[in-house]
Amino acid sequence: MTDSPIMTTTAGAPIADNQNSWSAGPRGPLLLQDWQLIEKLAHQNRERIPERVVHAKGWGAFGTFTVTNDISKYTRAKIFAEVGKQTDLVVRFSTVAGEQGAADAERDVRGFSVKFYTEEGNWDVVGNNTPVFFIRDPLKFPDFIHTQKRHPRTNLRSPTAMWDFWSLSPESLHQVTILFSDRGLPVGVRHVNGYGSHTFAFINDAGERFWFKIHFKTKQGHKHWTNAEAAEVVGRTRESTQEDLFYAIENGDFPKWDVFVQIMPELDAEKTSYNPFDLTKVWPHAEYPLIPVGVMELNRNPDNYFAEIEQAAFSPSNIVPGIGFSPDKMLQARIFSYADAHRYRIGTHYEALPVNQPKVPVHHYHKDGSMRFFPNNPNPNAYYEPNSFSGPRQAPEYREPPLKISGDADRYDHRAGNDDYSQPGALFRLMTDEQRERLMDNIAAAMQGVPVEIIERQVVHFAKCDPRYGEGVAQRMGVTVPAMPVAAE
Ligand code: NDP
Repeated sequence: MTDSPIMTTTAGAPIADNQNSWSAGPRGPLLLQDWQLIEKLAHQNRERIPERVVHAKGWGAFGTFTVTNDISKYTRAKIFAEVGKQTDLVVRFSTVAGEQGAADAERDVRGFSVKFYTEEGNWDVVGNNTPVFFIRDPLKFPDFIHTQKRHPRTNLRSPTAMWDFWSLSPESLHQVTILFSDRGLPVGVRHVNGYGSHTFAFINDAGERFWFKIHFKTKQGHKHWTNAEAAEVVGRTRESTQEDLFYAIENGDFPKWDVFVQIMPELDAEKTSYNPFDLTKVWPHAEYPLIPVGVMELNRNPDNYFAEIEQAAFSPSNIVPGIGFSPDKMLQARIFSYADAHRYRIGTHYEALPVNQPKVPVHHYHKDGSMRFFPNNPNPNAYYEPNSFSGPRQAPEYREPPLKISGDADRYDHRAGNDDYSQPGALFRLMTDEQRERLMDNIAAAMQGVPVEIIERQVVHFAKCDPRYGEGVAQRMGVTVPAMPVAAE
């Protein structure tokens, strides 16, 4: 006991008694001057920050990225500079719809966010375990998420809202097919692939731009539960993913992912039959093969979950020299909304927190606000820019080359010319018979109670992917595939 430090207030004053509050007599009442009691209760009142609107339930760990293959001809990003190079990182996995206390073993997309602490700043890949997403235009995002969350009156999740929205938004078919496939209910996040999902840009030393997609393929193998198995798991534990990830790392069984990129020369974007910036589409491997880049390993659990994982703030706006954005509309909106969410839920200077802090010096002129605990620029007179006091300066050598592809600003119909059916159909056809049966069983289970006109509208979409898909779901739901195309298309 004598080695224990003396307990203090947050202002550092010793605490003499942490068992008894300060009162006028043995039976009370309490005194307002008991600042230690007040400080303790006030802190407890502030122990929560707003949970994320999406991806509230998460699990995370620290690790390393190691380069195994030279891709420096595509990018000057220093993280990829040489084979063998290692970069520290933090990963946060999550479910999307469930609140912070939700059970882990639920059918849902898994968030897969990686923050690489590179020597030229933090690069965040804020992805999912799926290569595509439900929508391609961010104007639809809040509506989509409302269908995944609780109904305003019943305060319950609403299958009707989900299938109504999906059936009126056929661009969702690809992601819906993945969600209800075996991979929609993984045993844990060690057993999922990660995908950056969006198309990003690489820029090399010669100023050439290549579009790229990034994939993290699990070395643990894919493992999933059926709905029935998951129900049994949730009955036993709501924390199955946290237990699996935490104890694997604690026991030295470090999970690993092989990291690949697909590369597309800049002007190919004008030739592909699909829009390569459409988040509901993949780039077929046969056209753009996976190029190995490295290995990601998770090898350290956080010491404090709240400080290091709940406050870990990932944003697609965090890019570094040699990596850039693409015109993908969903990416463009996320560049704004993720950093904005963190400023709201954590505080203005959230990137000064240890888990978010880059491992390189930070020099900017953003001045005051919550969490302003970092020092001034070396010369305190340099608190604006431009200045004559050797303050931090811009560096034009990092300017990106101009885009070779262009477009006018307008509200283009995001559905025009887009084929929402071929790629989910290709996925359906690469499944085994058993996988297809489970896919259609899972969809039918999720459609229970949904009005018949919505079911009929949705099975038309499935049928357009593959007639067996439409008929299989229709038969399970006791409807026939309507002959006419749906009005929403
Ligand atoms: P390939 O046959 O070359 O690759 C098929 C891909 O599908 C593999 O990456 C595989 O992942 C993945 N996969 C298998 N089962 C599922 C599932 N239930 N949910 C999600 N992904 C799954 O095919 P193509 O590149 O020609 O694409 C065909 C279809 O495969 C696409 O329409 C798309 O639906 C799906 N797909 C394609 C990806 C791509 O980047 N091209 C990425 C992921 C899926 P793994 O290797 O880990 O088993």
